[in-house]
Amino acid sequence: MKHRNHSISHKMTLTIIGVSSFFAVLTMLVQLIWNYQDSIDNATSDIREYSESILPSVAKSLWDVDRSLLSDLLSGLGMMPLVSSVHLDSIDGVTMQLGKPLLTDDESQTLFHYPVTYQDQLIATLTVGLDTNQLYYELWRQLIFIVLGNGLKTLLMIYLILTLVRLMVTDRLSALEDFTNKINLKSLKKLSVPETVTASPDEIAHVALSLKAMYQRIRNDLAINKRHQRALQQQQHLLSDLVKERTKELDWQSQSNQLLAEISLQFLSIDTCNVDKTLTEVCHKIGQLFDVERVSILEFHQQHAYYRSFWTSELHANKVQGISVDNITQLAKKFETESTLVIEDLEALKDFSPQEYEVMKSVGICSIAAFAIKNAGELLGLLSLSTVSRPLNWNAQKKNMLTQFASALNELLLREQKERQMIVLQQALVSANTQLKEMAETDELTGLANRRPFTERLETVLQADTPAGLFMLDVDYFKSYNDTYVHLEGDVVLKRVADALAQCDILPHNALLARIGGEEFALVVEHVTPAQLTAIATQLCYLVEQLNIPHQASPLAVLTISIGCVFLPLDKVSGLKMADVLRRADVCLYRAKDKGRNRVEVEACNTRTY
Ligand code: GH3
Ligand code: MG
Ligand code: MG
Repeated sequence: MKHRNHSISHKMTLTIIGVSSFFAVLTMLVQLIWNYQDSIDNATSDIREYSESILPSVAKSLWDVDRSLLSDLLSGLGMMPLVSSVHLDSIDGVTMQLGKPLLTDDESQTLFHYPVTYQDQLIATLTVGLDTNQLYYELWRQLIFIVLGNGLKTLLMIYLILTLVRLMVTDRLSALEDFTNKINLKSLKKLSVPETVTASPDEIAHVALSLKAMYQRIRNDLAINKRHQRALQQQQHLLSDLVKERTKELDWQSQSNQLLAEISLQFLSIDTCNVDKTLTEVCHKIGQLFDVERVSILEFHQQHAYYRSFWTSELHANKVQGISVDNITQLAKKFETESTLVIEDLEALKDFSPQEYEVMKSVGICSIAAFAIKNAGELLGLLSLSTVSRPLNWNAQKKNMLTQFASALNELLLREQKERQMIVLQQALVSANTQLKEMAETDELTGLANRRPFTERLETVLQADTPAGLFMLDVDYFKSYNDTYVHLEGDVVLKRVADALAQCDILPHNALLARIGGEEFALVVEHVTPAQLTAIATQLCYLVEQLNIPHQASPLAVLTISIGCVFLPLDKVSGLKMADVLRRADVCLYRAKDKGRNRVEVEACNTRTY
């Protein structure tokens, strides 16, 4: 036990010694005073009784002068305890002294005086001295015995009390202290109070049992607290995990939204002729965001699903081929009514759709999420994300985001499809316009250019200031031909004449031959010399004549043409307008008519007849 100096036994010892000593001293003092007084009283009483008893004998012996008797009597008195001296002093001068001499100022003895009378006459005074020193000595002796007796008694009592205190209190308190010292709130071991402490049902046992009960309650409370703490820690961990999970989900959601916005903007500004490269990039980004190994965009076309775009993270992935819709009929049918198909583990597909299971297994798919790309209920394609090495958990958040990505793709593909249709329509329109233009610029009967392209070309030539020739051609006596062979036959002949003119092999490739009136033709030839001009005109006349079309009403008997032509630019008349040039060519033509027909008249050139 610690702090022994302040132990109960120590304090009790001191207290018992102090109190018992105090009372012992007090008792001794009282007893000494009492004994002293009692001794004085006894001695005084004895001396007085004895003295008074011998006084008549002393008086008689004194009277009789019997000294021997007197001496015996006084000796007897002197033999009494505590009597230190005896003195007899008679009135007639007889003095007897036994023991110490009598001194009035001697404090060591107390004097008692007794008158000795005989026949009522004072004859002497007997003085007896009481030895107080002896009395004190006696008292001291008693004191020693008392002190020794009380001391031993006190020591015995102290020993008994301390032994009892040690057995009943100190040892048990020490055991209780050891018990309490073993209490460790960290380990909370199971402890039991020593039986010696609780053996007797006294206060210490009650305290020990209360302490034990308190320790048990603390253990229980701490155990409950620990359980609560553990539960709290578990909840904190769960909460922390939940927060991390939620933060991760929000981060992912934010990334997804960012990517969706980025892709949507990209799609808005995309050139639909260059979609495939963008789709490959989009597949790559979606694949990384969703942590899958393959992303594909399939397009359905005539019972086939084509990989429009494909991305894979696999290092040595084989080139993926298109899938026949016949092989995935059940899935395709499913997409007629639904927009989403999620297969977290392909093995789940094995029982209810074995064909699709085999197809997907053959391309190594382990888990897949596919989202329909539809237009007015028609399945256009699929956005498909898959893994090949592990099943994947497709949660609602991912499905929702993928539906939005599919929706963005849907809009892009629809736009692309519409733009493709638009291009086809535009091409058809351009083709129709070209046809219309051709029709508008083509003579229906002969297939040659009509007046409009002719005037345009002539205008161009006039502005270009390049050497060119303008020919005006007219069938001779054609009115009478119609009259002779009917109008329909006249049309046939016009077509034959046109073909013959067009096939003239000396015409340059850029020459424009046009039918500009009923039986009137015009020709514009660029980059020609005047000599070439005449040669061409002559050759044309010749070709028509060589057709040898009978014409009974013509003096020439066959169908012929006359040609009037001018060389451009006309040096002398530079700056003329189209109408002037045409008029000048007409003038040449009329001149050829006037000169007999079937001939060529070139302005400022010689004429030649066939
Ligand atoms: P000329 O030698 O002076 O030119 O005598 P011509 O009879 O040819 O006189 P003109 O040029 O004035 O006559 C034109 C005739 O061409 C009138 C018309 O009957 C005929 N003609 C005009 N257009 C057509 C056509 O498209 N088909 C047919 N079959 N005949 C036409
Ligand atoms: Mg004419
Ligand atoms: Mg004519």
